[in-house]
Amino acid sequence: MIEKYYLWTVGCQMNRADSEKLAAGFTRLEMSETQDMQEADIVVLNTCSVRQHAEDRAYSQLGRVRQLKEKRPELKVAVMGCMVGLRTDDLRKRFPQVDVFARPQEFGPIMELVEGPAEDLGGEFWPSTYAVPDGPTAFVPVVHGCNKFCTYCIVPYRRGREKSRPLADVVRECAYLAAQGVREVTLLGQTVEAYGHDLPEQPDLGDLMRELQALEGIARIRFLTSYPRDMTGRILEAVAGLPRVMESFSLPVQSGSDAVLESMRRGYSRQEFVDKIAEVRTLMPAAGITTDVIVGYPGESDADFQQSFDLLEELRFDKVHVAAYSPRPGTIAWRTMEDDIPAETKAERLHRVEELESRISQEINNSYLGSVQPVLIEGIKGDQPFGRTETGKLVHLESPARVGSIVDVSIDHAGPWALRGTAVNALQLA
Ligand code: SF4
Repeated sequence: MIEKYYLWTVGCQMNRADSEKLAAGFTRLEMSETQDMQEADIVVLNTCSVRQHAEDRAYSQLGRVRQLKEKRPELKVAVMGCMVGLRTDDLRKRFPQVDVFARPQEFGPIMELVEGPAEDLGGEFWPSTYAVPDGPTAFVPVVHGCNKFCTYCIVPYRRGREKSRPLADVVRECAYLAAQGVREVTLLGQTVEAYGHDLPEQPDLGDLMRELQALEGIARIRFLTSYPRDMTGRILEAVAGLPRVMESFSLPVQSGSDAVLESMRRGYSRQEFVDKIAEVRTLMPAAGITTDVIVGYPGESDADFQQSFDLLEELRFDKVHVAAYSPRPGTIAWRTMEDDIPAETKAERLHRVEELESRISQEINNSYLGSVQPVLIEGIKGDQPFGRTETGKLVHLESPARVGSIVDVSIDHAGPWALRGTAVNALQLA
């Protein structure tokens, strides 16, 4: 009898959304979650292979599971997520303790392991099963997969090609979430602006936002992750024109060097990226924009790196997620490029970007001092409420506020990673 499940998740928001959906499927079978692997009847590891560190963590979980399964052979074990490719023979040989391997969004084999053959075991987007929200914010996947094949990235091989969810299905889920008290939905896609290209009516992300804007109860709509070439003027106009859509962008640049961008097959030049940011800021001067950068990519010269550094200094992002390149098995870069930048050089470049990032984030956050920002309260840590501004800045409150309310906060302290302030209209709703 399978009653208790232990669900371990690493990786991006899409993985978290997959885990929440799987948990909803388990809950429907009246199973309950345990935080203690020892107590579980089934262990599910939802894995990520974007960085070596995330894979290493999964291997260490698999080690724990092996010991447990030796003691309790009836324990069921499933591994899902980006570590699972099309062919699983290798994984099966390496990890015989695992009963089922499932690719991202492939809920069927896991549900079958739990309940045996059944009519509704999942399917793409599993439209009959919505994740149960655990707070006022929720992630809603709208497009799976990616068609871009950047040379360093494993995602297209693991999550497959872009596949959009029918618009009506997304609207139904958001209406359900609103009825459960959710105030903010984040529309998810590996390249979220690719939404709709493959649907018969070809709606775009802007069309979806317009539909969601009309939903009662949803006060904020966010979206990530953006891909510069898919971000059309039409979508940007929707973001700028719809008051409930937050002017907050996650727009990875990855490098400021044309040579490296080409080697990464990012599909745009440095200038095209600069123009895209200018387009966003012309329409929405106060928009919050974060980016991602990889340093130490194969062949990245000092001059290439300097171009990335200069670009970050010029464009002044709210936050920069910087990573040192590490080859991911199965990618084009892993197959065809030598990882030729010494570890010390990568570390030094990483450090320089982190220092720059911290200075610029601090300067941008200082500009919030003395202003009043509407903040959606997402939770309470200790006795301190926290939430986010429309532009996505984390704010800690020094006065009480109700989770799920939107409170005007007077900002009186700014650090590089967060703001602090006092509610000027505490306990106000909406
Ligand atoms: S756009 Fe490139 S980096 Fe992003 S998911 Fe697709 S292949 Fe990966």
